[in-house]
Amino acid sequence: MFKITTIPGDGIGQEVMKPTLEILETLNAKFDFIPQEAGKECYKKNGTNLPIETINSCKESDSTLFGAVTSIPEQKSAIVTLRRELDLYINQRPIKSYNNLDINFTIIRENSEGLYSHLEEDNGDEAIAIRKITYKGSERICKYAFDYATKIKKEKVTAAHKANVLPLTDGVFKSSFYKVAESYPNIKANDYYIDAMAMYLITNPAQFDVIVTTNLFGDILSDQGGGLLGSLGLIPSANIGEDNGLFEPVHGSAPDIAGQNKANPIAMVLSGCLMLEFLGLEDDAKKIQNVIEDIIHEEKIKTPDLGGNNNTQDMCDEIIRKL
Ligand code: ATP
Repeated sequence: MFKITTIPGDGIGQEVMKPTLEILETLNAKFDFIPQEAGKECYKKNGTNLPIETINSCKESDSTLFGAVTSIPEQKSAIVTLRRELDLYINQRPIKSYNNLDINFTIIRENSEGLYSHLEEDNGDEAIAIRKITYKGSERICKYAFDYATKIKKEKVTAAHKANVLPLTDGVFKSSFYKVAESYPNIKANDYYIDAMAMYLITNPAQFDVIVTTNLFGDILSDQGGGLLGSLGLIPSANIGEDNGLFEPVHGSAPDIAGQNKANPIAMVLSGCLMLEFLGLEDDAKKIQNVIEDIIHEEKIKTPDLGGNNNTQDMCDEIIRKL
């Protein structure tokens, strides 16, 4: 029995969590789902967007499934705080098209430092954000990227940075990348400035296998990946540390479509698959991923983001029927 904390959160986070749990419950593996709160609705009710009970539950569980939360200016980001509390320094975001074979790469984003260090202040005359990049943080994320490329039998790891404009911080990242690369002679290592990378992702995405980058750049590139696939509703992500994992779709709470039962649940369901892999249930993950691949190919059931008229529950029912 796996203990899984579930945090649906706000907006479509609620709507995509429900079908994901329904799908996981059809598997032979047994899960004890522990529902917890976070986000804007939680803040209105409890005066905090991340109660201590939620943090503790995540720490005590085998892993966490997280929907999406709406951010509120008065509070630190719930997801950023959770990543820090659980020391989930890896954010893995696979960008895989089921229709265009040229697009199949994974973004490995450093998840604990950079511009997400909560080091920001307003001095009255000016506001300053500190971008913190450490050798330790850079080396461990680059090592993970090379290990991951080895594991999934890919040939190349590409670093994205802006070391020409940020020679100190991104200098640390770039030099750490090439230092780590020396231990992986069978994997090609190259790097691009982040602006060139943004262009190549569109003009020649087939050249990428694994991309490793700092926190903010990784966040931006992943949404660009969503654009490449046609919808953010297709991209899952894993937040991984030494002994814990939190799995969430790349998309946010999407207030523009919340409450309309038209969110695509695939990103959340595929995040559940990344959790299954993390828990050692690779066969179950593969089974669900294959079913989703079939559904996307067949184009019979399509939520509005994919150009169809089906709703969230239709997609869930079809996945369960095929399973
Ligand atoms: P955040 O700041 O939390 O990332 P956001 O509103 O900037 O939130 P998203 O919530 O990810 O970004 O939404 C971006 C766009 O993608 C919106 O138009 C939204 O409707 C669409 N979108 C996001 N997720 C899905 C989904 N699962 N299914 C369909 N459309 C989606």
